[in-house]
Amino acid sequence: MKPILPGATLGVMGGGQLGRMFVHAAQRLGYFTAVLDADANSPAGRVSHHQIQAAYDDTEGLTQLAAVCAAITTEFENVPAAALRQLAATRPVAPSADTVSIAQNRIDEKSHFSACAAASGVPCAPYAVLETQADLAAVSAELLPGILKTARMGYDGKGQVRVKNAAELAAAWSDLNNVPCVLEKLLPLKAELSVIVARGWNGEIVSFAPQRNVHVDGILAVTHAYEGCLPADLSARARAATEAIAAQIGYVGVLCVEFFVLASASGNAAEDTLVVNEMAPRPHNSGHYTMNACDTSQFDLQVHALAGLPLPTPRQHSPAIMLNLLGDSWFDAQGLERTPDWVAVLALPGTHLHLYGKTQARPGRKMGHLNITGASVAAVQATAREVATLLSLPGLESR
Ligand code: ATP
Ligand code: MG
Repeated sequence: MKPILPGATLGVMGGGQLGRMFVHAAQRLGYFTAVLDADANSPAGRVSHHQIQAAYDDTEGLTQLAAVCAAITTEFENVPAAALRQLAATRPVAPSADTVSIAQNRIDEKSHFSACAAASGVPCAPYAVLETQADLAAVSAELLPGILKTARMGYDGKGQVRVKNAAELAAAWSDLNNVPCVLEKLLPLKAELSVIVARGWNGEIVSFAPQRNVHVDGILAVTHAYEGCLPADLSARARAATEAIAAQIGYVGVLCVEFFVLASASGNAAEDTLVVNEMAPRPHNSGHYTMNACDTSQFDLQVHALAGLPLPTPRQHSPAIMLNLLGDSWFDAQGLERTPDWVAVLALPGTHLHLYGKTQARPGRKMGHLNITGASVAAVQATAREVATLLSLPGLESR
């Protein structure tokens, strides 16, 4: 593709925080931006040059978006594939409708991972597809206890139920109205990690070193990104697997793949195994540290990949810890709303606050994140502990 140069307008489907950070990165390079979202006050829409207030499946809104944009990406993985196809009829769209639709459906996603396992060497968790009562009856006891996950529309642990036995499984599936689901075996996780890659229209691919993630109640709480946060061999395997997963579907754009680490029976960390969990066809919460710790962020790469610009190999210049800021921090122990003590947080060395401009705080709602950088891992960890105490943030104590 001929590069789309700064001065042109780049569009994004979705007005959430990921769209906002894409818009900021695009604007820094001199692009104009357009955001399509149904909400007139979306985090990305409020900072974009053009804002199209329309639902994702509004044909008229999509026509308007295509009319102002030279190319379009997405920040929300559940954008209907049909909408991306409509846009792609007249404009470059990355990632494509076909690749986004794989990530939208856990059944297709797992088939893709299984197909890649030969090249990637990394399997997914043992699972069964539940679409009919016969599928339910055929579930192997091997998969229990397990996690029942809806095939579509799950995020931040929503649409997931932990089940111990066949009776709980049947009841949980019925509670989910028997929509298509996968049942995954509950695995004893030693750790979780993710890898972010960017792939261009010409197949060029670059990636960030894997980062270690800590989830609390199914939501990402902390990302550790520094030398030694993961064994080198494990990181290399995860990185190679992610590149294979992206290349095999001809992916264009930024892709994040999440993995589980399982402890080896021998107790030797070098023999720990990897299991691929899921992928997100966009920049990811676990890659937010790249905004302050790397010379090129995941959002910069999203802009470059979409516009057909060269993809610089990102270089991390500081160790980093990212702490997610959920709406819970906006309430005190009595449940009264308050403003977190930003002045105290920002007085600490190497703290970089990113707030998404959401006016309404709710428990569990992603309001922002805090990147902590420093000259050494020890310095970053010490500051992270201070921040966690100030804001009562969970997840730092767990390895
Ligand atoms: P995301 O916000 O990443 O999109 P999600 O709702 O799509 O989350 P998953 O990534 O599938 O959900 O699961 C959320 C978390 O639940 C995982 O990060 C992990 O901590 C835990 N989990 C999921 N599947 C398993 C499993 N098979 N065994 C053990 N823990 C699991
Ligand atoms: Mg996940």
